[in-house]
Amino acid sequence: MEILRGFKDILPQDIKKWQRLEKIARETLESFGYKEIRTPILEKTSLFARGVGETTDIVEKEMYTFLDKSGESVTLRPEGTAGTVRAFIDNHLENYPFKKYYYIGPMFRYERPQKGRLRQFHQIGIEVFGIDNPAVDAEVVLVDKIMLDRLNISDLRIEINNIGCPNCRPEYSKKLKEYFQTHREELCDDCKRRLDRNPLRILDCKNKTCSRIAKNAPKITEFVCDNCKTHYEKVKENLVALGIDFQENPHLVRGLDYYTKFVFEIITDKLGSQGTVSAGGRYDNLVEQLGGKPTSGIGFASGCERLIELMDYDEDQNIDYYFACLDDYTTCMKLAKGLADSLKRSVYVEYESRSLKSMMKKADKMNASYVVIYGENEKEKGIVIVKDMKRSTQEEIEIEKFLENEVARWQ
Ligand SMILES: [Zn+2]
Ligand SMILES: [Zn+2]
Repeated sequence: MEILRGFKDILPQDIKKWQRLEKIARETLESFGYKEIRTPILEKTSLFARGVGETTDIVEKEMYTFLDKSGESVTLRPEGTAGTVRAFIDNHLENYPFKKYYYIGPMFRYERPQKGRLRQFHQIGIEVFGIDNPAVDAEVVLVDKIMLDRLNISDLRIEINNIGCPNCRPEYSKKLKEYFQTHREELCDDCKRRLDRNPLRILDCKNKTCSRIAKNAPKITEFVCDNCKTHYEKVKENLVALGIDFQENPHLVRGLDYYTKFVFEIITDKLGSQGTVSAGGRYDNLVEQLGGKPTSGIGFASGCERLIELMDYDEDQNIDYYFACLDDYTTCMKLAKGLADSLKRSVYVEYESRSLKSMMKKADKMNASYVVIYGENEKEKGIVIVKDMKRSTQEEIEIEKFLENEVARWQ
């Protein structure tokens, strides 16, 4: 049997890195008062059509959508925000004191599989609801940055932009359309389509000709309303106050329709063109758009596969005790139970013992700190042999005193 195209197993030999990523993310986010939320992987298709935006690449061509047995159109979540917003509305979380949430989990997009793009990938993200204060925009960037720092991900730069709101963006959109219209024939096929439906998206097209044309396009800063302008200036002030370096990039528009006012990306040059490590922004109309009361929102999402690739961390397999049983497995199991249960040490009991030599080799490969040998001789003498693998020493310990001895060792 083969795995589906674009899907990937995360194997035991790589899991330490994933666990470390998740642990650091949780610790960082919870230290800033963010609470975890776990929403279903499968949702109604209409949630994403309305929540992510009909004209986005995700909804237009990348969703895992199918009919369930009752004929309802359902979709594997392509991102985490829409589901979190739905959960916020459905569960009346506006009455719950904590308004800052985070999620970690798999997302699905039916993309052409290529390097760095999987059809099932993972994201860590946060969402904050009901806080208009521009200081929280800076907090979101700060929390993201601290998480990346704690993961030892270096050489990052932060780009920000003001993306306007439904009051001022249509005017800008119109001006952009007029501008790109004069270059219509040079644009790539995707952008020709975007020209009518969502000209803003042309600004972040990776096609060389498109980005050359986009360089001279009108800038949104000339069109934003006073409200958007003030908000954005305050975010910048707060970022400066927090000591966060950033660059303004007027072409940063993000692939999602729901953003308003402030957007940002954290980028590395280490991964070639797939350099975005984290991306986010404000979405003040999304809650209402999905049927809730008018409630502002802001968040970011970070791709775990990219974080894993960038994390400076050496995988080391290890185990505290390897039990080289040669005969009496029951006794070995009882001794191992004491260590794992009372002493909280990791143990690996060998149930397929061959020669002592081959077991020692295996213990070495597992990076065992200690090997406990228990064979016929030891059984007769009522002892076990404990080998210290780092010091290359060994001692005989009476079987009754084994646990007591090991407790003392770790004190
Ligand atoms: Zn505006
Ligand atoms: Zn293009």
